[in-house]
Amino acid sequence: GFDEMKLKKKVREIEEQFWLSKEVLMQVADDIEVMMQKGLKDQDSSFIKMLVSYVDSLPTGDEEGCFYALDLGGTNLRVMQVKLQGNRTIDLKSQSYTVPHKLKVGKLNVSILMQRSVCWFQELFDYIVDKVSIFIDKEEDDPKFKLLPGQKRELGFTFSFPVYQTRINSGTLLSWTKDYDIKEAIGKDMVEELTKALERRNLDMNVTALELPTSVMKQLNDTVGTLAGGRFYDSNVVAAVILGTGMNAAYVEKTENILKPYGVPPKSGQMVINTEWGNFNSSRLPLTVFDRALDDNSSNRGKQVLEKMLSGRYLGEIVRRILLWLAENAALFGDTIPPKLHEHYILGTDAVSAMHGDYSSDLDLVGECLEEILEITNISLEKKQLIVKICEMVATRGARLSAATILAILKRLGKDTASECETVVAVDGALFGKYQQFKSCLHRTLSEELLEEPVSKKVVLRQYKDASGIGAALVAASHSIYR
Ligand code: ADP
Repeated sequence: GFDEMKLKKKVREIEEQFWLSKEVLMQVADDIEVMMQKGLKDQDSSFIKMLVSYVDSLPTGDEEGCFYALDLGGTNLRVMQVKLQGNRTIDLKSQSYTVPHKLKVGKLNVSILMQRSVCWFQELFDYIVDKVSIFIDKEEDDPKFKLLPGQKRELGFTFSFPVYQTRINSGTLLSWTKDYDIKEAIGKDMVEELTKALERRNLDMNVTALELPTSVMKQLNDTVGTLAGGRFYDSNVVAAVILGTGMNAAYVEKTENILKPYGVPPKSGQMVINTEWGNFNSSRLPLTVFDRALDDNSSNRGKQVLEKMLSGRYLGEIVRRILLWLAENAALFGDTIPPKLHEHYILGTDAVSAMHGDYSSDLDLVGECLEEILEITNISLEKKQLIVKICEMVATRGARLSAATILAILKRLGKDTASECETVVAVDGALFGKYQQFKSCLHRTLSEELLEEPVSKKVVLRQYKDASGIGAALVAASHSIYR
């Protein structure tokens, strides 16, 4: 039977596990910073890989020309055409596509693959090239985006997965994250695969237009793109943080601090580092039973442990696990367990955000989400309030942890205690951009708890529209022979 006191007690117990004090956040920030240093010495022994991006100079805002950018994130594929006109001005055309799940996990019909004699990950690249070609076919339609006579297309390719690079136009995939999992692609050179797919397309379709030699294809992580894009708009941008499907960050490091081998140090004395810090883990990271169970059931068990505590792919799943536990152990939904509640990842972070943001007196939106997603009806107002509380505590923990990660980067840059000019962190991703309570909690935690005045007033988190794609186009432009 239902025991209200018991339910409330259980919720309070969970709440305590999810609350991270300022002290814990400071410890996490310290541990991340130490591990960042470790990754700069030897990435194989560090949870945080600190990948060298081979981007050694950032945009000034004066760049000119017409470039393509391709952005493969956790959720979307975005194709962009960017026209840079100098003076920080830009024209942009873009189109987003939702990548079909079967392409992300390589679950394709074998007979189709045999017929086309391509393997699973090649199918993903063919899909990407297909979308690029839609743009190229329309190139002639708009004089603004037309290439100069004899000009080759140049493309910046941002990829939001860990890639080990040895040059700006080459890099092998280290692992998949988020919900991508095509084992055959690991260890493959992503630029080479994209080039091959372009060649396949040429043969298949007999189009002559698709010339994209590797020499003008630049590959970068989406965090690096966001950093470059942010710098285009504001010279005080020192780092970029992504809070979307996954979490990651990039920042500008002095080359003298990169103690692992990576080739010839650039003249600029600077190098953009792609931290890949979503993989952070430490004994001081307070994982709950829900985090452990989520990890145990994931395709990349033991990996991306920090990411699994706070990013968009996982917040909804954590909430689902708590609701299920409360249904089983404190009769949250009465004597039966709603069957949908057993489905992994059925509850998205967008729904958590919607429920958390329901300020109506009857919590109608919470009721709607429960009914539509979980097929749960007739829930009392009190129980709906408890569910909102659960969303709040999961999001609050995520936002506070995110604030700690940003503190770690400020520490790394020596900007946590003193700063003369503004320190701008470019932040991107739907979790930050669309989840209002998450965003304000992150801001509040960083500026009111983790930093002290006057520095707290100098650190700014800012979101720039289309930063990642613009950044990718700019990086393609920065080595361009057409400048
Ligand atoms: P990506 O990180 O894949 O490049 P986005 O930045 O668009 O792409 O992030 C998508 C993620 O953001 C999804 O996993 C989803 O969980 C989350 N998300 C989308 N809309 C919202 C929202 N309104 N509130 C909170 N999270 C959201």
